[in-house]
Amino acid sequence: MPLRGDSPIQYIKGVGPVKAGWFAEVGLRTVAELLEYYPFRYESEKGECELADVSPGMSVTVRGEVLRVRRRSQHLHCRICDGTGECTLRWFSAQYAPRWLEPGVLVVATGRAQLYQDELEIVQPRVQVFRPGNVILTQQRGARNVGVYRGTAQLKSSTIRRAVLQVLEQAVLPVDELLPPQLVRKHGLPQRAAAVRQMHCPDSAAELERARPRLVYEEFLLMELAIALRRYQLVSLQTGQKLHFTAEIDRRIRDRFPFELTPSQTTVVNEIARDLESGRPMTRLLQGDVGSGKTVVALYACLVAIANGCQAAIMAPTEILAQQHYDNIERYLAGSRVRRTLLLGGQPKQARTAALRSIEAGAVDLVVGTQALIQKDVAFAQLALVVVDEQHKFGVLQRARFRTKGPLPHYLVMTATPIPRTLSMTVFGDLDVSIIRHAPPGRGQITTKIVTRQQRKVVLDYVRGRLEKGEQAYVVCPVIGKSDDDPETQSGMRKRAALASARQMHQDLVDGAWQGLEIGLLHGALKADDKRATVEAFVAGKLHALVATTVVEVGVDVPNATIMVVEHAERYGLSQLHQLRGRIGRGRKDSLCVLITHERGAKAAERLAVMADTTDGFKIAEADLRQRGPGELLGTRQHGLPELHVGDIVNDFALLEQARQDAFEIIARDPRLAQPQHKRMIPALKRMFGNKLALIDAA
Ligand code: ADP
Ligand code: MG
Repeated sequence: MPLRGDSPIQYIKGVGPVKAGWFAEVGLRTVAELLEYYPFRYESEKGECELADVSPGMSVTVRGEVLRVRRRSQHLHCRICDGTGECTLRWFSAQYAPRWLEPGVLVVATGRAQLYQDELEIVQPRVQVFRPGNVILTQQRGARNVGVYRGTAQLKSSTIRRAVLQVLEQAVLPVDELLPPQLVRKHGLPQRAAAVRQMHCPDSAAELERARPRLVYEEFLLMELAIALRRYQLVSLQTGQKLHFTAEIDRRIRDRFPFELTPSQTTVVNEIARDLESGRPMTRLLQGDVGSGKTVVALYACLVAIANGCQAAIMAPTEILAQQHYDNIERYLAGSRVRRTLLLGGQPKQARTAALRSIEAGAVDLVVGTQALIQKDVAFAQLALVVVDEQHKFGVLQRARFRTKGPLPHYLVMTATPIPRTLSMTVFGDLDVSIIRHAPPGRGQITTKIVTRQQRKVVLDYVRGRLEKGEQAYVVCPVIGKSDDDPETQSGMRKRAALASARQMHQDLVDGAWQGLEIGLLHGALKADDKRATVEAFVAGKLHALVATTVVEVGVDVPNATIMVVEHAERYGLSQLHQLRGRIGRGRKDSLCVLITHERGAKAAERLAVMADTTDGFKIAEADLRQRGPGELLGTRQHGLPELHVGDIVNDFALLEQARQDAFEIIARDPRLAQPQHKRMIPALKRMFGNKLALIDAA
């Protein structure tokens, strides 16, 4: 019986229940799954060759007669000869060796030749045994390329290869075409079964070059279909508050700001206004560097909702940020009739209860608070818009659920982390994206220098001079103290005693280079009140410098802070450095960022060079993606990127774009994938991305 796609791996000849268990450990249970487990590289298996031509290191197939078979302890040694030379086949345990090995039989053995005690041998070869009377195939097996697979301690690459080759012997592979025929034609793709075969045993590099993109495209297409489906369910199937937007509303809102909106802001505001009018719930991601003017855009959107007699909410990741949003908004709304309230965890109970009641009664128009707070407690009377400020935490993009009657609220997520296009087409692929590319005018320049630890003293002396003239500085350290259980130790950073800790650095500066200056210390282990007091002192200009861990990322807006010194800069991802650097350069004055590397050699400086070259967050994010991959960039584990077997969103970007376009076209025409040429993709879709993307009840 030929194997089918859903046949258990166990049924493949030579596998059996024990090995099937090993396969299961790497997630391979069926023949179809095995066939989608592609090699990470290839080696060429020579065709049969004479023993005289075999040299150590070669992967070969040899044919010879068995001279003798011997056991030495567990090992089984089988000596063969082909008239040109001799060679030993060795198995670590007789139980792995084929049956019928005895003097006189003919064997064809495939494996890697090596020298052992000056003798040529092949360890655990793949063999065929031809007993007298068996038909002997005289034809030579030709050379071929075979895969090298990622295995485990138990499951060797060679075991996987053997199982795959066994399946590939079948004349008809149990591989069904998935793609709609018109797409196969349109892009001139090879058939799926042919591509799978080539992926495991490529006839040539050129064939592999044709096979791989086909499978990558298919994988991307399925992923983008899943995304398009989710988007369809989130947006097209839902009704949203239909808000009115008029020139009069636009004018009145713009009048609230003491400046003209920048062209970037105007573009985004128009995109948002169109969403709000559409009758569909907006799900939009607004990207822009810190200070690019996102809050102004968010407030604009809120005011459109409020002009329609509805409520709006702004949610921040921390209380400090919620407070800061609120204070900013207060400036713009002074003297307006907009009724607004700030919800904080530490508020007196009475005040909170009163606030909650007026929100529920519709007596408040605009609510600012932390995400946890607003989602947990608050029932809105008439919520039309939710703004979520994720700052840099975009890996965990939360979809808020609100207790609200009627249509879904519009949803605007703001992030200060520029998201490379590859990611906004995958992880955030179901959101619309708006980008503020250019900051408001009148900002100073940021100069970035990359220096080694040896130059630190010079740097600190120089900075001291500027601090004495009234500028302010951040000094960023990777850890709080020497303790091992430091909660802020960056993931992936190896804990080493040599890491500059914030506490130590603070002490060193106070006693040394910056003696006599006022220097604060800020880190996550401080009590909330202490943190607030320190931040306030820095904002008020009472501190020359703030030594901090990366908490300053989500911290404070201090236009007078113009200098940043980052210790152990090589330990941060580029995106994170970009975030950190965003704390300076917020005022009119020019700023200086010094990245101190503690690594010897040019590698760290080279990796960081892009920081000195540009302040364009998107360029930096792309470089970061290339350096570290999407998992790291987004925060490992929770990054929400479906596991891809063949595709690489960075290197296969063109295919990703193509697949995305095709997928969205398919869903636009056939949103339930009901047509036969689409329907057959549903099982694969569910299998590959169903859990990850939480979707597809369609069809
Ligand atoms: P973000 O939320 O992106 O960090 P903000 O909206 O808080 O940025 O804006 C940063 C600063 O720039 C604020 O001080 C704000 O008043 C100012 N700002 C925003 N938009 C403009 C503009 N169009 N022209 C001048 N200044 C602006
Ligand atoms: Mg902001």
